[in-house]
Amino acid sequence: EKKELDQYIGKPTVTKDGVTIELVANIGKPEDVDKVLQYDAEGIGLFRTEFLFMDRNSMPTEDEQFEAYQKVAIAMNGKPVIIRTLDIGGDKEIPYMGLKKDENPFLGYRAIRFCLDRREDVYRPQLRALLRASAFGNIKIMVPMVTCLEEFREAKAMIEEVKAELDLKGIAYKRDIQVGIMVETAAASLMADAFAKEVDFFSIGTNDLTQYTMSVDRGNDKVSYLYSPLNPAVLRSIRHIIQCGRKEGIMVGMCGEAASDPLMIPLLLAFGLNEFSMSASAVLNARKLITGYSIAELQAIADKAMSFVTTKEVEAYMRELQ
Ligand code: PEP
Ligand code: MG
Repeated sequence: EKKELDQYIGKPTVTKDGVTIELVANIGKPEDVDKVLQYDAEGIGLFRTEFLFMDRNSMPTEDEQFEAYQKVAIAMNGKPVIIRTLDIGGDKEIPYMGLKKDENPFLGYRAIRFCLDRREDVYRPQLRALLRASAFGNIKIMVPMVTCLEEFREAKAMIEEVKAELDLKGIAYKRDIQVGIMVETAAASLMADAFAKEVDFFSIGTNDLTQYTMSVDRGNDKVSYLYSPLNPAVLRSIRHIIQCGRKEGIMVGMCGEAASDPLMIPLLLAFGLNEFSMSASAVLNARKLITGYSIAELQAIADKAMSFVTTKEVEAYMRELQ
């Protein structure tokens, strides 16, 4: 099977009816880039920077972060590299940050909420490192766990402040760097039309979007039967986000697990998803699947799938089509 997939190395990711899809990879550390290149991903759709902060006793300095981001930007040689700002809390703990245990970690003091609060010592150095590294490749900044417009505007304003600082010091950065958001909360999905007017791109985080839509802890086995991106509520949310993004002409990607799910891929293509981001080892199989579909022919299938009102029916229908 590996041999069979190897033939997809170097092939463009274009559907049978001529639509080009961006097929990119998720990473957690600069070293992961080797696999990204090995499996011929077309860029990086999600760099989870919290891994630079984990398994150590103190925060990585601005320079350490700069070196990590720069290394990835250079290795990817002009291909898009979406770097997500620190997404801690929830299931990811960093002991030295002095965070008290939240009663409901996934609903608590995490990600952008924490960063906007602890801006001086945590967020600013990260943004400075990201901007400095942006002079070396095609870096885009992604803000996680956004629930309301104000959070995005505040993050954006801080990026502008950091840019002004760099200007004063004569330090180079990509002036028109794109800033997008993860759409992974129910609130962001419902407000996707408004967000699409202000952000440069969306990346749908189905791991959290499923959790927050279904009110189901993504790590709890007792309720995992409810946790599926094929649930009609989650599918409606995903379709809505893609439609809102496409209407404003911004790129809409997905970096949650659902992006590599063979049962999801035909639906995501039909909805109009532009970019699929997944673990590097899943890329070639996804290219095989995507290049085998015609988006025009998937429309009727997606309509039918969306007419079902239970996960079971959607799943059975999508399985039948495999
Ligand atoms: C997601 O929520 O879908 C996602 C990609 O981010 P993480 O899994 O890191 O929360
Ligand atoms: Mg997430």
